[in-house]
Amino acid sequence: MSGTLYVVATPIGNLEDITRRALRVLGEVKVVACEDTRRTRTLLTHFGLATPTVSYHEHNESSRAAELIARLLDGESVALVSDAGTPCISDPGYRLVREAAAAGIDVVPIPGASAAVTALSASGLATDAFLFVGFLPSKRSARKARLAEIAGVRETIVFYEAPHRIGAMLEDLREAFGDREIVVAREITKLHEEIVRGSVSEVTAKLTAERHRGEFVVVVEGASDRGAASGDDAIPARERVAELEAEGLTRMDAVKRVAKERGLPKREVYREVVGDDSGDA
Ligand code: SAM
Repeated sequence: MSGTLYVVATPIGNLEDITRRALRVLGEVKVVACEDTRRTRTLLTHFGLATPTVSYHEHNESSRAAELIARLLDGESVALVSDAGTPCISDPGYRLVREAAAAGIDVVPIPGASAAVTALSASGLATDAFLFVGFLPSKRSARKARLAEIAGVRETIVFYEAPHRIGAMLEDLREAFGDREIVVAREITKLHEEIVRGSVSEVTAKLTAERHRGEFVVVVEGASDRGAASGDDAIPARERVAELEAEGLTRMDAVKRVAKERGLPKREVYREVVGDDSGDA
């Protein structure tokens, strides 16, 4: 009979956030597959566990997945962990999970911390539905293009961001989304945890250079109902463009945004804004 693949969440900072079930499983499996064996060894040792580890990361995913599947088919149980939080969430793992499921191996999730949901729970922004984007592209042009693509999303949006890019990301966010309400959760569950709330420009002003250290989740309110509305009760496109310009978007960005929100050609929105047929956005 095959072994079981356990997908085990570990803390995102505070070690008290490990669950009893995670500890039991980590102690019972034959091997723990992890991103960084030294880091996971420190965690296991802290809890008095001596289970062997094997590295499983983005550079050896496919070869290691095949090896681990063979061990699972041989009856060994494996725990998959990442450096912190829930494996597979902006972390390696989904290939192993997919291949295990395809091979008929039981996959059992052991839930625990994930930075996205933890930040969202303290954000005070709408949580009935949300879009998890994870990391934006590191190249500015690609980042801006991705932000433009999702500017009209009405649900709350959750991003991960690296400390050396948080300043640039907030700048691009303001340009693409306008001065919306956001919540930046920094170093959650750690000593320097802070949750900064306000419009993009207010949060940018609060996050001075020395607070650009650590790990960040950026939670952003969705496009407003009014802005995203389409059909009879939508405000005229011209007014919506003016509203976005007042929030800090350039005219062209505002036109693009309204076109996207309403599923209209940019040219049509531009014409409505300038009030004649001459525009070609
Ligand atoms: N799998 C992890 C999870 O479930 O949250 C996420 C791994 S991803 C490689 C790491 C990113 O998660 C960080 O760059 C940061 O954006 C976010 N993150 C992780 N721990 C965090 C913390 N304690 N506070 C704020 N953000 C955190």
